[in-house]
Amino acid sequence: MKMKAIMKSRPSAGAELVTVPVPQIGPNELLVKVKVTSICGTDAHIYAWDSWAQSRIKPPLVFGHEFAGEVVEVGSFVKGFKQGDFISAESHIPCGYCYQCRNDQQHICGNLKILGVDTAGCFADYVVLPEVCAWKNDKSMKPEIASVQEPLGNAVYTVLGEDEDVAGQNVAVFGCGPAGLFAVGVSKAASAGKVIHIIKHDFRRTISQQMGSDLIIAYNDPQLKDKIIQATNGVGVDVVLEMTGNQKAISDGIDILRKGGRFSAFGIASEPLINLNLNAMVFKGARIICINGRLMYRTWYQMAGLLNSGRLNPAPVITHKFKLEEFEKAFAQMKSSDRQSAKIVMFP
Ligand SMILES: [Zn+2]
Ligand SMILES: [Zn+2]
Repeated sequence: MKMKAIMKSRPSAGAELVTVPVPQIGPNELLVKVKVTSICGTDAHIYAWDSWAQSRIKPPLVFGHEFAGEVVEVGSFVKGFKQGDFISAESHIPCGYCYQCRNDQQHICGNLKILGVDTAGCFADYVVLPEVCAWKNDKSMKPEIASVQEPLGNAVYTVLGEDEDVAGQNVAVFGCGPAGLFAVGVSKAASAGKVIHIIKHDFRRTISQQMGSDLIIAYNDPQLKDKIIQATNGVGVDVVLEMTGNQKAISDGIDILRKGGRFSAFGIASEPLINLNLNAMVFKGARIICINGRLMYRTWYQMAGLLNSGRLNPAPVITHKFKLEEFEKAFAQMKSSDRQSAKIVMFP
C-alpha cells in the first residue's frame, strides 16, 4: 500500500510531495491514519534548512510531529489501544530504560528521540507511533484541537510546572507565537489573577484578547517595565512565562518578577549564549524552572481536565487550514514577514 507524504528529500531548503510505501509497525507500535496535522516552529526550521536543521536532520525524512488520527493497526504487544481509537501523539519518544525513564522523567529521556526529527513523522497519510507516545482522545474532540495538544501541552507544563499554582497570581507571558498564546489561555483557565501579555506581532493582539489576556504590551514599548510594575501595585508579577528565548524578553522578565517569584523558561535562544542576570535572581530569592516537552503523562491529564472544564479553548490560535498537498502555501503563510497567522493545520 502506498501513501502521500511531505519529505525533506535532500539537504537543502524546501520539501517535496512524494508517494512512499505505508510504513510497517513493530510489536509495540500503532499504525495511525492521520486526520489532521499542525505545523510547529521546528518544522519551519527543517523546511528552511537553517543551521539547526543542518546539524540535526538526516534526509531523506518525512517530517512533522503534531497530529491527531485514527488507529488502524496495532502491534502484537500493544495493550492500551485498539483499532478505531482516536489518538494524539506525544512527540518525545523515550527509551524506557535509562536513568530518567526509570525516575518518572521520560520526557527528558537520556536517549530521547523526537517524532518527525529522528524518526519518520506525520506529514503523511499514515504514521507509526510507539504505544508509549499515544494519547487517547474523546471521539467528540475536534481533530484540529486534538492535533494542537502537543504544543498546548508545552504551555500547560510551562504554566503548571511539576506542581505549581497560578490561582490568583499575576502572570506575565512573553511571546505571541502559538506557545505564548496558549500560555495566556492556560493561565486564565487555571485561575490566574492578571495575565499580562508581552507581544511582538500586532496581528496576534486579537487572538491574545480571545485567549483572555488582561493587559497587552508591545515588547518594544519603552514604558514596558513601568506599566507592568504599575499593573501589579508596585510589586512585580508572581510568575514569568518566557516563551521567546529572546535576550530582551529574558532580561525584562527578570526585572519585572517580584521577589520570591517564579520564572518558567521555555523559549529556546537562537543566539549561542544568553546573558542571565543570576545575581538579580539570587537577590530576589526567585526560582527558575526550565521546561522541555510535557510531563508524561501528568501534563496531558491536566490539559484534558482544563479542556473538559470548558475554561480552556485553544481554537482562536488556529488561524489557517490547508490541504497537506498545499504545504508550500502553508509554510509561506507561516513565515510571512508580518506574521499574519498563528497555528496552521493541514489535512491529508
Ligand atoms: Zn512541536
Ligand atoms: Zn530513556
